[in-house]
Amino acid sequence: MTLSAPPLSVSTLTPRLLLGPGPSPVSDRVLRALARPTLGHLDPQFLALLDDVSRRLREVFGTANEMTFAVSGTGSAGMQAALANVLERGDTAIIGIHGYFGVRMADMARRLGAEVVEVHGKWGGVLESEQLVEAHRANPHAKVLSVVHAETSTGAQQPLDEVGAHLSGTDTLFLVDAVTSLGGVPVRVDDRNIDVCYSATQKCLGAPPGLAPITFSARAVDRVRARATPVSSWYLDITLLWKYLGVEHVYHHTASSNLFYALHEALTEIEEEGLSARHDRHLEVGSLLQRELASRGFGSFTDPASRLPQLTAARLPEGREEGPLRAALLEVHGIEVGGGLGPAKGVVWRIGLMGHGARKESVERLLEAVDALGVGEP
Ligand SMILES: *Cc1c(COP(=O)(O)O)cnc(C)c1O
Repeated sequence: MTLSAPPLSVSTLTPRLLLGPGPSPVSDRVLRALARPTLGHLDPQFLALLDDVSRRLREVFGTANEMTFAVSGTGSAGMQAALANVLERGDTAIIGIHGYFGVRMADMARRLGAEVVEVHGKWGGVLESEQLVEAHRANPHAKVLSVVHAETSTGAQQPLDEVGAHLSGTDTLFLVDAVTSLGGVPVRVDDRNIDVCYSATQKCLGAPPGLAPITFSARAVDRVRARATPVSSWYLDITLLWKYLGVEHVYHHTASSNLFYALHEALTEIEEEGLSARHDRHLEVGSLLQRELASRGFGSFTDPASRLPQLTAARLPEGREEGPLRAALLEVHGIEVGGGLGPAKGVVWRIGLMGHGARKESVERLLEAVDALGVGEP
């Protein structure tokens, strides 16, 4: 006779402290919002909620852009929506690459049939603004120039001001991945002349994964409307999406009311805390972690001048094997951190202090576990 395993139930899953590169911990308040009864995707109450989500997202993005909403899908759906709407087959796209997510953008742009001009920077560093401006001068006909603001694979924050100022006087759109930056460090879409900017709910915004906030400037919208060919993705065509989510509220797809409840509640938390207080909190807690890790013999994978507070790529002390220690951190202490990608594979932990997880208690719990496992140098 064989004993059968008890049926799997989500009620028996062990909660973890999520201190990896996302998803980040979700507050009880946001989880309670998520659990409210499902509404129809055309219910007038839900449509009012969609409008309020757009209004709150404009605040967080720092934009007056009318076309601001949340795409159904994760951050990569935001990336795909951004690129697929502004690029047509044969267009040139200049893409900055200083980590894994820049590589993904270039891959997507190529699949859309674009001629990609890659501008490379060292993983762990940033792209010099002059490098990007030079690439644009050499390719002034480029339809778009894209960069990742917060490179989650390396922990580096890309400067945006100079490139945005340069591009604003040209016909090239400035496209920015703010998946890990939004809600953690200032993004300021309008001040920086960003034309297309997308994010995700599960990093510094404090909601579960499943929606991708996105915003398009008026000139980006004009560009999309003037396309010679339809957007290759029906699902992510922003003119169709905006008809549903923004203006006429005509059926396009069945948006998840529950995910929108969670995002709305998370945005309400942000409004109550204040965006700049939230940025300060991320900075304070991230700096604390970075100091404490340094005192335990951890190194920084990221150039010191470019470190993000909300994502720390820490090299383990000499002789420590990251994989087994990361597994023990999860199994014994219930804490999730991320491993490295690309050149950082096997040598770093990527530690996220994002959204609801960006608090001193997270740092304390992590350091206790690090000390208990003997990861740091004595
Ligand atoms: C997480 C992340 C993405 C992808 O988001 P998913 O939600 O995993 O699809 C894109 N860009 C950056 C910078 C990210 O950190």
